[in-house]
Amino acid sequence: MDSTEREHAGSQARQHAARLTAKDIHGVALTWVDNAGVTRVKAVPTARLPQAAQWGVGMSPVFDVYLSDDSAVTSPHIGGPVGDLRLVPDLDRLTCLAAQPGWAWAPVDRYEQDGTPYAACQRQFARRMTARAAETGLEFRMGFETEWTVTAHPTEQRGPHVPHAAEGPAYGMTRVVGLSDYVRDLFEALAVQDVDVLQIHPEYTAGQFEVSVAPADPVRAADLVVLVRETVRAVSHRHGLSASFAPVVTAGPVGNGAHLHLSLWRDGKNLCRAGDGPHGMTRTCESFLAGALEELPALLAVGAPLPASYLRLRPNLWAGAYQCWGVENREAALRFIPGPPLGPDAANAELKCFDAAANPYLLVGAVIAAGLHGIDRELTLPEPVPGNPADTGTTPRLPSSLPAALDHFARSELLRAELGGALFEALLAVRRGEAELARGRSPRELAEALRNRY
Ligand code: GLU
Ligand code: MG
Repeated sequence: MDSTEREHAGSQARQHAARLTAKDIHGVALTWVDNAGVTRVKAVPTARLPQAAQWGVGMSPVFDVYLSDDSAVTSPHIGGPVGDLRLVPDLDRLTCLAAQPGWAWAPVDRYEQDGTPYAACQRQFARRMTARAAETGLEFRMGFETEWTVTAHPTEQRGPHVPHAAEGPAYGMTRVVGLSDYVRDLFEALAVQDVDVLQIHPEYTAGQFEVSVAPADPVRAADLVVLVRETVRAVSHRHGLSASFAPVVTAGPVGNGAHLHLSLWRDGKNLCRAGDGPHGMTRTCESFLAGALEELPALLAVGAPLPASYLRLRPNLWAGAYQCWGVENREAALRFIPGPPLGPDAANAELKCFDAAANPYLLVGAVIAAGLHGIDRELTLPEPVPGNPADTGTTPRLPSSLPAALDHFARSELLRAELGGALFEALLAVRRGEAELARGRSPRELAEALRNRY
């Protein structure tokens, strides 16, 4: 940030602060997501927003090597008690929080104290990859699906107690009737925050719900998923409930995914359609998807970042445990959605194997990096799998544990180069730390340890 940028940010923030104060908003939550996928925060009084926008708010870089249990590891570039970064709010994303009256929220970018971008800032990584694609005229529309499990409020909670009203059949109206005010309040809070919700539905497992939102550019899609989760969390609190986005809340049943939908665009045209590639996609789209599919074993270390992620990522749970693609195939890690009946421009691809413990900024950036690499090499997709990949006997499984995914990640020259040494090494250290933390723990113990962390 140079002095002109600081000046501009300061004057913008002064106007925002006046507007917020007039609305009785007294605190602004400035959030970022660490490498373990935990959303961390520094809150400032509204009157301090101009100061924060100009100079940032201090926070230690050590959180880049924090684990899901708040213990810290170290990495070659990051770790230890020394140093400080500046968290600078993105004022374009400033949002009044409907379910936290008196509060606003903004995501931050992280800078060094001298104003240069921090090399391990995940949000700037996502922006860098988006800009790289834009150099070749490519744009993206992306959207995360958010699945969560409603449980009794932690203070009353012994074990994962699903309140009676949240039980009932999968996709069952019983659950929406039981939590009618809750679901309505979610619609309301998200609408007031200008989040374009596509739908909310009860998911498969008792207590499980899902919300999906309209696609946006990659950084915005990652911002949105943070905002949506914290809104769900806040509405849940107001109803005396707790929301968990952990990949598994109890070991055994279907878990919580965070599927990533994406489409590629050039000159206003959706490249997932009207091309001469498989099922009507363009050759550029095919190569992009082939690049992502090829890199999935390594990408899992970004998108399925906990040992417990692999309790979710199992066959026959629609979690996408196989390294294959298929048209409207919900068992394939890559589900291609040709578009109609929603209209041809609805054509998109869904990566199903990821969960909400992933840092969404890292994930969108890493998927773009892998896809662009596929385009560079003009990769083609293999044959789509038409049925359940479990029945073919030949379709490769994705890694079935974090250490197995980490082996692929550690060898990925592509991800090392694009993430940069500091971020790549921090991720390796954090993932190794999580694997160590989980050693000897039963699935039940793993689920219990994480339930209230995500
Ligand atoms: N809950 C499933 C998962 O773990 C996904 C179900 C669905 O296709 O929406 O990813
Ligand atoms: Mg779902």
